[in-house]
Order: sequence, then C-alpha cells, then structure tokens
Amino acid sequence: MILGSCACGKVAYEADQLDGPICHCHCKTCRSVHASSYSSTARVYREHFRWLRGHALIRNFESSPGKRRHFCRACGTHLIAEWSHLAYVILRMGAVDSDPGVMPSTHIWYSHSPSWLRYGEELPHYSKGPKSALMRPHGSKR
Ligand SMILES: [Zn+2]
Ligand SMILES: [Zn+2]
Repeated sequence: MILGSCACGKVAYEADQLDGPICHCHCKTCRSVHASSYSSTARVYREHFRWLRGHALIRNFESSPGKRRHFCRACGTHLIAEWSHLAYVILRMGAVDSDPGVMPSTHIWYSHSPSWLRYGEELPHYSKGPKSALMRPHGSKR
C-alpha cells in the first residue's frame, strides 16, 4: 500500500500500488507549482487510488487544458495531478510517505530543466542538512 499526505497532514490518500514508473518531471509547470528543481511523479489507475481524509481542503487548478493539479488549500502541498480523459492519476512522489519499493527510472521534460541544475555524483551527499560552510550564502559569515 502506498500512503501519501500533505505537509499539514489534513489531506491523505492511499494507493494500492504504483502502476507506472517513477519519473522526474522537469517541466516548467511542475517546477513552478512545487517550487522545486523537478517533481518526481508516478501513475496510479483511478480504481487503485482513494482519498482518505481532508476532502473539504482539496483544491485544484487547471495547469494545461484538461490537466488538473490537486493540492491542500491549508498548506499548499500538491498531491496528485490528472488528465480528465485518462484512466490514471499522477502521484507527486514528494508527498508519498511510504516506500514504493521501486527506484525512479527516467527524467522527462528535461528540455525545461534550468541551466543551474545539473546532476552528478561529484556533488557531496548528506543524510541530513549539513551544518556546513557549504550551505552559507556567498559572502555570508553566518
Ligand atoms: Zn495540508
Ligand atoms: Zn511536469
């Protein structure tokens, strides 16, 4: 079972399984609505998806004709997107609380990726936020 919830916890859903691969979407709209470098996404057939709580808080907007993005109006977390004519919803994996058991398989809309965002194992990795000079704004002493 896949469980997902928003940042304030008032909206939650469950999905029986992922029905498609996890894709990192770099499209301009995903980057904007998530205020993030990209959005990790995965498809779930509608019959495998159920809202658990927070129905009254769920809002959506149409980001492209026929595509709606659903979010918690209390905290702003985006939870799913859907195309009205398709048989599945698209989970926003950043709001998934459980381990889906699979690794991301691909990057999509990479043509929209900004020039400052590049990938590489050469970047340092931290298990939590580093208390490091690396994270200070340039020129900052604090
Ligand atoms: Zn919320
Ligand atoms: Zn996207």
